Amino acid sequence: MKKIIIAIDGYSSCGKSTLARELARVLHYIYIDTGAMYRAVTLYFINHNIDFKNEEEVTNALNNISIDFRKIKSEIHTFLNSQDVETSIRSMQVSELVSEVSAISSVRSFLVQQQQAMEQQKGIVMDGRDIGTVVFPSAELKIFLTASPEIRATRRKKEYEQKGIDISLEEVKNNLAHRDHIDSTREDSPLRQAADAILLDNSYLTKEEQLKFVLDLMSEKFNLH
Ligand code: C5P
Repeated sequence: MKKIIIAIDGYSSCGKSTLARELARVLHYIYIDTGAMYRAVTLYFINHNIDFKNEEEVTNALNNISIDFRKIKSEIHTFLNSQDVETSIRSMQVSELVSEVSAISSVRSFLVQQQQAMEQQKGIVMDGRDIGTVVFPSAELKIFLTASPEIRATRRKKEYEQKGIDISLEEVKNNLAHRDHIDSTREDSPLRQAADAILLDNSYLTKEEQLKFVLDLMSEKFNLH
């Protein structure tokens, strides 16, 4: 069975990671959450008081950052310099700054290089904002996921609630809109649907339905399962 690269891009909180994780599980592929990598860099910058506007400080900081993913009780956790940061990278503080950090070109080239090196592993599902356009422009399957802003914010608020974080719908909505705006208007690798990506609006789809949609697509296109 030929293993391919599946690129999933889209706006914040569209359910990209849910879809990517499920696809990886069913297909026995490796799942890479590139958003977690940008979040880990942001966390490092916050913890070390790095001035984002100072290029030299940013470059020096990047030289001291090492990110990897490890499986802990069947869940993938993000590690920053050998420390498990899976919970802290999802905080509101990181969410508020991550898009500013992700717009810095040196940060992008630092992470894109590492993401592209993962190609050797094949059988990859990678999600982010620039996977189909910049990281893997020749990915065999590209999905551009979208959902209505109201539904995205409601889903994200529920996730926060499950973690015991009390946050208003308005605050979540504003954060998503803020990130989407910066992500789609930045100069370096803005969020775009690749010309050969398939648009999937999952506003009214269950997790199972969206997974089935992609698996059916793969069957039709590649006869993969
Ligand atoms: O996917 P997630 O919402 O966790 O990503 C957090 C942020 O990381 C995004 O809002 C975006 O600014 C940035 N990002 C990016 N390119 C990627 C993945 C994430 O710029 N490939």
